[in-house]
This record gives sequence, structure tokens and C-alpha cells, in this order.
Amino acid sequence: MKEKIQILINEEELQKRIKEIALEIKNDFNGEEVVFCSVLKGAVFFTVDLMKNYDGDCSLECVRVSSYEGENSTGKITLKIPLKKENIEGKNIVIVEDIVDTGRTFKYLVEYIKDFNPKCVKTCTLLDKKARRVVQFDADYVGFSIDDLFVIGYGLDYDEKYRNLPYIAIVKND
Ligand code: 5GP
Repeated sequence: MKEKIQILINEEELQKRIKEIALEIKNDFNGEEVVFCSVLKGAVFFTVDLMKNYDGDCSLECVRVSSYEGENSTGKITLKIPLKKENIEGKNIVIVEDIVDTGRTFKYLVEYIKDFNPKCVKTCTLLDKKARRVVQFDADYVGFSIDDLFVIGYGLDYDEKYRNLPYIAIVKND
């Protein structure tokens, strides 16, 4: 690893908060089945731990969109792996994201999923960079609010590297 990195949220803090979110979702759905819709690739690690801590009926679907290249959002959302209508229609959907930045990805996905007539759509993100919003968006479940920093680890990449770190970190440019 060439770059110097600094831990922002350690493994213990992540796992503690994920347990709390899993319980919050379980209580909100009151025993009804939930479909966790994981946004590839970044949300994979978070989705796995969230579901492992979710003590209720649930299933998993995955969708892939892209908007980022390197450290910059291109602003244009492209659907790379779509969902199937039969897996969404009439169901309680929780979209699981790694991070909300401009808000464009979530806004796009909520509208995309609503077209499949789900019973309800909720949004869940591990990290939230509120200061960077371009479109108005508030997630229903937020793990941690963070400053305007480019973060890596626990699914989040820098040009496809660092997803395997078990914590959230920042790259130090000195
Ligand atoms: P938005 O559409 O809200 O601008 O961006 C959401 C997506 O941008 C996230 O799913 C993630 O892939 C990427 N992203 C935003 N901020 C960061 C960041 O700090 N680090 C990394 N690795 N990806 C980010």
C-alpha cells in the first residue's frame, strides 16, 4: 500500500452502529418481510453485516449504478445491473448504500424502484456527507454523518482498491 491512510471510523464503532440500525429497521417493519436492495459494489460489506444482524424475515437483491470515476462524481447516473420487477412489486424495500454524497444516486434509485410498485421504499446509508448535497435528499437510516472527506474502506474504493479494509479511512496526501 503506497498511500498513507488514517482511520476515521474503526471496526468496533462500525459494528456497534450497524447492530443499532438493524434493530431500528426491524422495529419499523413490525415483523413484515423486508427486501434489502444493496447498491453494488460499495454497499456490499455494509449490507452483509446489516443482514447478519437483522433478526427477521428478509431477502437480498442487488442493483448496480455508477456515477464516480476516481475521486469525482460525473453527475450522470448509469444503470449497470438492473432489478427485476417481480422481486420488488408489492414488497417492503430498503435500499442500502455505502455513502450519500450529492444525493443523485439515491434520488435516481428511489424513482427507479418506485416504478416497480413496491409496498414501500426506505433508504439506508452507512455514511452521509450532508455538506456535498446537490439534490435534496435525506436517508431514513444513517450510520454516521461525516465531513466533506473522500473516504475509503469497508466497501468504499479508491480506483477499486481498499474495499477490503475493515474500517473507514481517509487517504492522507502528505
Ligand atoms: P452521490 O450520487 O450521492 O453523489 O454518490 C454516491 C456514490 O458516490 C456512492 O455510492 C459512492 O460510490 C460514491 N462516493 C461518494 N463519496 C465517496 C467517498 O468519499 N469515497 C468513495 N470511495 N466513494 C464515494
